[in-house]
Formats: sequence, C-alpha cells, structure tokens
Amino acid sequence: MLSLYNSLNRKKEAFKPIGSARVGIYSCGPTVYGRVHIGNLRAFLLPDLLQRVLRYIEHVDVDWVMNITDIDDKMIAKSQLEYDKLNPVEALERLADKYEELFLQDLEKIGIKRDDISHLPRATDFVVEMQSIIKGLLSSNIAYVQNGSIFFSIERYQKSGKKYGKLIDLNFSSKSRVTHDQDQKDGVADFALWKAKKPNEPYWDFKLDDTNYPGRPGWHIECSAMSTKFLGDTFDIHTGGVDLKFPHHENEIAQCGGSQANYYLHNEHLTVESEKMAKSTGNVMSIEDVKDPMAFRYLVMSAHYRSQMDFGSKDLAGAHERLRRLRTYTDQLMLARPGQLPEKDETKAVEQFNVEFKHALEDDMNTPKALAALSIIESKVYSLDAREAMRLVDSVFGLNMVNDTPLHDDILEAIDSYTQARTDKDFKKSDELRKNILEKYGLVAADTAIGTLVSRH
Ligand code: AMP
Ligand code: ZN
Repeated sequence: MLSLYNSLNRKKEAFKPIGSARVGIYSCGPTVYGRVHIGNLRAFLLPDLLQRVLRYIEHVDVDWVMNITDIDDKMIAKSQLEYDKLNPVEALERLADKYEELFLQDLEKIGIKRDDISHLPRATDFVVEMQSIIKGLLSSNIAYVQNGSIFFSIERYQKSGKKYGKLIDLNFSSKSRVTHDQDQKDGVADFALWKAKKPNEPYWDFKLDDTNYPGRPGWHIECSAMSTKFLGDTFDIHTGGVDLKFPHHENEIAQCGGSQANYYLHNEHLTVESEKMAKSTGNVMSIEDVKDPMAFRYLVMSAHYRSQMDFGSKDLAGAHERLRRLRTYTDQLMLARPGQLPEKDETKAVEQFNVEFKHALEDDMNTPKALAALSIIESKVYSLDAREAMRLVDSVFGLNMVNDTPLHDDILEAIDSYTQARTDKDFKKSDELRKNILEKYGLVAADTAIGTLVSRH
C-alpha cells in the first residue's frame, strides 16, 4: 500500500483515492514568459513519478492536469517587449505559444511526453470559470471590491468559521510574511482575485449586477478554477514546489471554500551552493545546457523529493556514468537472444530485489532507496525474471532504457563468431571480432556466465 507525506496533515498517510476510477492529480505549471530552469523541472518530475508509482502500486489510472499560467505581470511586460506591434491580448498569446512549445520540448528531453499529461489548460481560456468562483465569494461576502479590483478577505473567511493556514502555521501579526504588494487592501494578507484594468494591458470584461469591472484574474484563482473544472470540487492530489505552500496553495484552498485536494505533495528545491535555483537569483540553468538530459532525470530521482538537492556539474557527470552502467545492464538483458536467459534466477536475488524495490516506493516514494536496491541484481543476475524487473524499473523511473528491437541476423552471426573464437582461446581473433562488433554495429560485447551479451555503446 502506498503511503504519501501529506503537507495538509504534516505526516505520512496511506493513500486512499476518492473513487475507484481515475486518480486526479493537479500540478501548478509554469508561467510561460521564458524558458523553465532545471529547478522547475524537478517540480514537474514529481507528478510524473507519482503517476507512474500510482499505476505500479495502486493499479489505478491517472488524470494529470497541469496548468499553463499565461497571464501575470511578467507575461504582460515581456509580451509587450517582444510583440509591441500586436494588441495586448494577441501579444500575450504569441508569447505563451512560444514558451509553451519550448516547455514541452524541455519536458520531452527529460522523458515527459505531451501525452503523459491528460490536460494542459491555459489560464486565459478559463476566465469565465474564475469569474464564477469570484461571484460566489462576493455573494457569500468573503470577497470585496476596492478601486475596481476584487480581493479575498482573510478576516471574513476566518470569521465564517474557516481555518486559513492549513499547510503552514501563519502568524498575521508578522507583516514580513506577506509578499510586497502595491494593491490597496483591507487586510495585509488579503489577496487579489481580480485586478482592475491598467492602460495598455490585456483585460477581460467582468459584469457584476449593472457594473462592469474590466480587468484580469489574480494568480491564485487560476488554479482553483482549472482544478475544479477538470477534476471537480474535491480531487486526490495536488503537487508543487515547497514555495507554493504559502501563499499560493493556501489561497487556492481558501478560494475553494476550505477544501480542495485530499493530499498535497511538495517537492523541496533544487539548489546551487545551498541557494534555491531561481531566475531572480541568476543561478539558473536550462536543460538545453545539459548534455544527457535523462541523466538529469536520474539525478533528480536519486534524491528523495522532500530533500533539498544541491546541484553541481560533478553530480550530473556522476549520474551520467551511473545511468550508463544501468543502460548497459538493461541492454544486456533485453538484447539477449531467445533461450539464452534462464527462466528464473535461482539465487532468489530477483525476488529480494522486487520486494525491496516495492517497499521503498510504497514508503512515500523513496526513490533513492529503490535505486539502491538495484545493487542486488545489477550486472550480476542474468535471467528472464531479472529482465522483467528491469522493465519494471524503467516503467517506474521513466528512464527510457528498454530497447526490445531484436538483433539482426548479421549481428547474431558476428556475436557467434566472437564467442567461438573465445571458446577456441584465439584471443587475437576474438579481439578483432569484438572491435568489429563495436565499430560496425555500435555494440559492446561482454563475457558473462551465460555467454556473450551485448549492449549499445
Ligand atoms: P514558477 O514558474 O516559479 O511558479 O515555478 C513552477 C514550479 O517550479 C513550482 O512548482 C515551483 O514551486 C517550482 N520551483 C521553482 N523553483 C524551484 C527550484 N529551485 N527547485 C524545485 N522546484 C522549484
Ligand atoms: Zn497553482
């Protein structure tokens, strides 16, 4: 049974899905005003891992929704800079098109395909849904209008008997907690649901009774609207980086009337010399600058998602080397010829591996422990059950290692000649044949207890 650390209750809990059909996951996606950095990618690898683990352990299907934030101050500023000839809404759309495309390419590099995500809604396509939530908050007197903008009142919310501060302990006497905001609000922690139109900025009409409030949505309301639209009022799991607990997720919950998802999973940050990777700090790196992006995926998986991960080029080189060895072992198993691998590993190492691998993942997705269990079989055990085990590892970790394409007859003949030369102890010939296999077919021949096995170079 899968247990997950739920930020709502600050403890590990057995995962119980709402229904028997599909598990709903909502992840806060990128703001598409620029290219994402590899710290952001860590946050998107969490739900990808989660959906794979859910399929493996809970045998459930998953609806994974990730939004695209295509409206905020940075989007507006950048779109007006890059597309100054277009009207503000068109400029915004062009900018979003450009960076959403790059985002999808970056995800693909680390093994997340577009089709792995069930829905990728853009915020500006759901303004009507946002307005509908805001209308509800106004009619229940939790929200108020000020200078054409609409705010969520924390005080009124609390007075209505609801708890604000479900994910972290909040102390409202401390103004320092509240991000700097130039909006005029009644309470320091109040936040904008709707921001009044400013000159030359994109805006949407918002008719309330007889008055129009042209403007644009606040950030938090986007996710409440899109999560409700695609997954319903209550859904299973919400993910995001730890920095989103407050105010973003706290506000999402409040806007949804006090409950939204049953489980909140937050990944810790990717840091550089102990500092969070962030555009504002200037210590960012894009996946484009990583030679082996799947090694980055491996590196992220080799740390627990709730541990900070300090990133350095040495770590990446280490992960590349580690993954290279794992690819070699997987290839050897997958490319073995029919009949070459014994059915079962008699030492029971594979059974032990399967148990440890599963236990590790059931325990709040302890990926470093699951990867460590590989040492029980890796490069030691060659059998059909070891092959199945590696197929499982690949499907859970999404490392794209498995290649099933059967070897061509020419290659099989070349391998046979090599094996024969070794049996005849004609090492000069076998060395030449090994070299030929490498140069002609890009395969490395290795001598194992069950004969010659090959892997891609
Ligand atoms: P943003 O575009 O800043 O909203 O970030 C998108 C996602 O990336 C959010 O879930 C953030 O919490 C997450 N994130 C941002 N910086 C980092 C980082 N350095 N390490 C891990 N996650 C991050
Ligand atoms: Zn969000």
